[in-house]
Amino acid sequence: MATTTHFACTLCGKCCHDLKLPLSVDESLVWLERGGTVQVLTEAIPWPAEPAADNGPAWHKRRRSFAAKSGVQPIRVIVTLVAAFDGPCPHLGADMRCAAYERRPRVCRMYPAEVNPYVRLAPVNKACPPEAWALKHPVLEHAGRLLDAETVELIRQSRDADAQDQGIKERLVASLGYSTAALSNEGYVVYAPRPATALEALRGAASDASSSSPNRAPSDWTFISGQPGTIEALLSIEAKAIHRLHLEGSAFRYLG
Ligand code: SF4
Ligand code: SF4
Repeated sequence: MATTTHFACTLCGKCCHDLKLPLSVDESLVWLERGGTVQVLTEAIPWPAEPAADNGPAWHKRRRSFAAKSGVQPIRVIVTLVAAFDGPCPHLGADMRCAAYERRPRVCRMYPAEVNPYVRLAPVNKACPPEAWALKHPVLEHAGRLLDAETVELIRQSRDADAQDQGIKERLVASLGYSTAALSNEGYVVYAPRPATALEALRGAASDASSSSPNRAPSDWTFISGQPGTIEALLSIEAKAIHRLHLEGSAFRYLG
């Protein structure tokens, strides 16, 4: 039976705490220019061949990733830029209203809708309290379809930006010397550059189209995992892989 989800924001402010808030490149520049912190999350997936035409989730990943290699293995790397903060967002006022309301990131505007077309909207996965989902509220989604045109448009813009930003993200991680990634769906490698370093590198990557040549050599990446079976499988296809326990002293951390 088709499900219907009703929703109205209660302004509880829970969704503005303890976040890694995914941002586009343009949004990351704004966030950094306002004195915020942006982290770089990396994940990667072996990519021996292009997926079948009907494999929607794989094409979704392809669209938001760039080609690289790990040892002899072709891979694709997904880089996610996130505004990171513990506790309340730096823009959250004492009245639980957003002080950056007019320029808040898209992901804030569309919450609690999902940007990934292969993730179902489930109230249980959201920070919103039960009263936000009461039947008396307007319908947010029916039979898997969002009804609010503005939210639908924001999601479209967000997915397009994600695809368009790949070249800039590839240049960004190259300029910062980042070349380790978690296996996609298993975790993330988290790099936390100083804000001034991130801003300078991101500005440089956004303005430099010179390394976008299709003839450039693919960058060489190392997988990080907490699973011995994953490491064994990656090594068996001649990819590079290291157990997370061997990361002492590295410039990144592993988030499983
Ligand atoms: S930018 Fe505004 S809406 Fe987004 S997390 Fe911060 S306070 Fe909340
Ligand atoms: S958690 Fe949900 S109800 Fe609370 S402020 Fe965020 S969107 Fe609104």
